[in-house]
Amino acid sequence: MIPYGKQQILQADIDAVVKVLQSDFLTQGPQVPLFESKLKEASGANHAVAVNSATSALHLACLALEVGPGDIVWTSPITFVASANCALYCGASVDFVDIDITTVNMSVYALEKKLKVADKQGKLPKVIIVVHMAGQPCDMENIHRLAMSFGVKIIEDASHAIGAKYQDKPVGSCQFSDISIFSFHPVKIITTAEGGAALTNNSELAERIALYRSHGITRNTDVMTEASHGDWYYQQLALGLNYRMTELQAALGNTQIARLTNFVAQRNKIAARYNDSLSGLSLTTPKVHAECYSAFHLYIIQLQGEAGDALVKERKRVFDAMREKQIGVHVHYIPVHLQPYYQRLGFKLGDFPNAEDYYQRALSIPIFHGMSEEMQLKVISHLKELAP
Ligand SMILES: *Cc1c(COP(=O)(O)O)cnc(C)c1O
Repeated sequence: MIPYGKQQILQADIDAVVKVLQSDFLTQGPQVPLFESKLKEASGANHAVAVNSATSALHLACLALEVGPGDIVWTSPITFVASANCALYCGASVDFVDIDITTVNMSVYALEKKLKVADKQGKLPKVIIVVHMAGQPCDMENIHRLAMSFGVKIIEDASHAIGAKYQDKPVGSCQFSDISIFSFHPVKIITTAEGGAALTNNSELAERIALYRSHGITRNTDVMTEASHGDWYYQQLALGLNYRMTELQAALGNTQIARLTNFVAQRNKIAARYNDSLSGLSLTTPKVHAECYSAFHLYIIQLQGEAGDALVKERKRVFDAMREKQIGVHVHYIPVHLQPYYQRLGFKLGDFPNAEDYYQRALSIPIFHGMSEEMQLKVISHLKELAP
């Protein structure tokens, strides 16, 4: 099976991890701070905090922005469930803003409309979590302008988008947001097996994220409530968690991030070949906005035709036939508001029509660093047969 995404592990990655296993520190050693400094360099943000997953990073970002009971967080319905769950972990409630069908990112038009209504009703969100879907940055300048005018904070879920650029600046720079999140799950751009990071330019937020990452415990005497009792002494200042990244993970991250530019360039090369070869078929290829350089975590085609039962059947036919041909197509994502858990919270079919329409036609086709031209030609020729 040609997978839809796959990590690249070289001997350098293996050697780096083995070296850590033979060292004194399996956790809380030098590799994590080194990885954090490389993440700052790659993103341009002033602070980076590495953690054990992007899900944890999203949770910590919400905690740092003091999201709690009574607060509302908005995100996109077309994302992995973690982008919404993080608000619920904090006791807040979640709502969604429909997508723009061409970029599959949160619609700025829908956001503006919803903010105006919420403002009148006194129900503005505390935080908006935008998702750079498939690796293409959202329209951050306009989202930021709107958030500023309504006093709303912004988290960028950039799980798909390390290595992407918006207006020539790396995603993660936080130029238009409070906090950005990366994921290092193996299907993402670079991997630490499991892992994530939160980036910010705000030192207070960075300190809070770091504090919550490790039980709410500090050894920094400057912030303690009384003089240190001695070298063993630490204080718990908040109710934190253990979301630490291990040294093994960070060592892998350090060798992987050296290849980031190359990974993203290769993904763009594969995407360009798909764009050329699939034009003229009865499907829509992804559109990248002029001010964006996508990381192309995913390459998502959309089948054409009216939404409805026939389209649902057609997508299933193409999906099944591709899988039959050993091509690991996938669908990203099932709209979060249609998950049974979210339906129990009151969301229903019809709430976010663009997201639901998109879900009927979306198909992720393979894209990853190690994908050969031969593999890609196989994917293209089957698609030409199935969706002429
Ligand atoms: C993968 C992903 C996450 C979760 O990442 P983990 O590192 O697996 O916790 C969150 N949001 C989006 C958009 C993702 O794709």
